[in-house]
Amino acid sequence: MCKGFKQLRSHLCGQFPKEKDAIYKYFDEIFQASKGAKAMIMMKIMPNFIYSKCAEYFDKLYGEYGTRSVIDVMQECGLSNETIGMLTYNWGDFGTLPSKAPFLLHALHIMHWMKGGWFPVHGPEQIAITILPTIEKPGGKCFVNARVSEIVLDKSGGVEGVLMNKGLFIPTTRVVSGVGAYNTYTKLLSDKATLPPQIRDTRNALTSQELPLGGTMMSLFIGLEGTVESLEVPKHNKWVFPTWDHDANQKRQDDEGLDAPFPVVYLSFSCAKDPKWAEKYPDTCVAEVLAPIPYSMFEEFEKSVHKKRNDSYDALKEVFQEKMMDVVYKRLPQFKGKVKYVNLGSPLTNNHYYNTHKGEVYALDHSLVRFSVHNQKNRLRPTTEIRGLYLTGQDVFMCGIMTAMYSGVMTVASMSWMALFKNLDILLRRVPSVYGETRVKSDGNEYGVLKDSAVFKILMVVIFAMLFRALLVG
Ligand SMILES: Cc1cc2nc3c(=O)[nH]c(=O)nc-3n(C[C@H](O)[C@H](O)[C@H](O)COP(=O)(O)OP(=O)(O)OC[C@H]3O[C@@H](n4cnc5c(N)ncnc54)[C@H](O)[C@@H]3O)c2cc1C
Repeated sequence: MCKGFKQLRSHLCGQFPKEKDAIYKYFDEIFQASKGAKAMIMMKIMPNFIYSKCAEYFDKLYGEYGTRSVIDVMQECGLSNETIGMLTYNWGDFGTLPSKAPFLLHALHIMHWMKGGWFPVHGPEQIAITILPTIEKPGGKCFVNARVSEIVLDKSGGVEGVLMNKGLFIPTTRVVSGVGAYNTYTKLLSDKATLPPQIRDTRNALTSQELPLGGTMMSLFIGLEGTVESLEVPKHNKWVFPTWDHDANQKRQDDEGLDAPFPVVYLSFSCAKDPKWAEKYPDTCVAEVLAPIPYSMFEEFEKSVHKKRNDSYDALKEVFQEKMMDVVYKRLPQFKGKVKYVNLGSPLTNNHYYNTHKGEVYALDHSLVRFSVHNQKNRLRPTTEIRGLYLTGQDVFMCGIMTAMYSGVMTVASMSWMALFKNLDILLRRVPSVYGETRVKSDGNEYGVLKDSAVFKILMVVIFAMLFRALLVG
């Protein structure tokens, strides 16, 4: 994928000249879909009594792109199956096949990548390091290796505090849970507590898999001897597929198991992305390789203890490691003889380190079911029916570092009127810039569809007025 809207579109038109009209339509849909994201945010952050006044408009706007599959929208544009397969190469970014995921997700990812990628200088730990002072300045504290075992409720059903797994009780009347909907609703709320109906409903949907968890992956970490230049390590990510029919690739893995090729393999090289890498790690390179597998392949070892699993587990890992290294060497033959370190993580490794349930990489499945209006509006919003309990993170919005951060703004905006006012600009006007260009030029003109429609602007004014009124009246 090349950087820049115009470059990408003309590149694609050059590659698929017979599909020029369809490609233009496809980009129209991509930009229209950003409105769906705004509607989704409104749906989640507006108090129900305000949202209900404009629900019909926002539900429809969101529904158009949030509840139609990637494949359906692209087929309607007239794109051929092969072109659809190529353009949906990024399905691994949210882990759900294009036939099962909403077009909105695909559109937001394409817009995101259109601007190119980002990598933090000195590595991803900088995200945590640089946010720490902001938390600590007003007296906040951060703890690592500190697992919460329960969100304790008082007799009236509101939050009373959190119980840590080592027995420490931290009293508080407000908890923002960023550990995922599944953990929060099914593991951290006691069975003995009297839970409000909406919470019980969400909990049931999660345990019954009506709201399923997303898929899992093997994660291979490779260390190599050599410099980025000598090993010709690419800056870009590589996605490797057996064919462009992603559904068929997945089906083959489901049917044939270990004998089938991975439906997708993702290769990424942080050493080439970080401009300061060589200063810290001279003559060393790294690669990360991810490949989806069904959790069932590792389920039998679920009860075993991390680092003390048995030989069959190690043997199974060996098979995967070999399969993944084959892909690496095929794409990057210059790595042969240079590999000094290999470590493979299984879905059970995810369970251990991320506290996942079935190794899920991106928490809840990014399927059409999860993104239904009902689930988004009622089950996966930052506010909950429990007084003082809020949700944040990828389940409230969608997976990705930027989106998880963005969900924090959504949660804060849901917690206080002042925060909502202060953040409306970020929440509504800047959302497309999180993903890509806000002002894209098309044939020399400003790309019209990216601008909010007059109806949308009027609605914003009405909502502002209602918020003011609600604030003044109390
Ligand atoms: C291998 C991999 C590669 C990825 N690559 C990218 C990428 O290149 N770009 C990108 O944008 N996104 C990427 N993602 C996705 C991105 O990392 C996630 O979408 C994002 O981190 C989600 O943020 P979050 O805060 O919602 O959840 P998380 O980052 O998962 O944070 C939740 C935290 O809660 C902790 N926790 C769980 N239970 C408890 C408990 N009971 N008590 C205390 N703590 C608990 C977990 O240990 C975890 O640290 C990747 C994800 C994976 C797994």
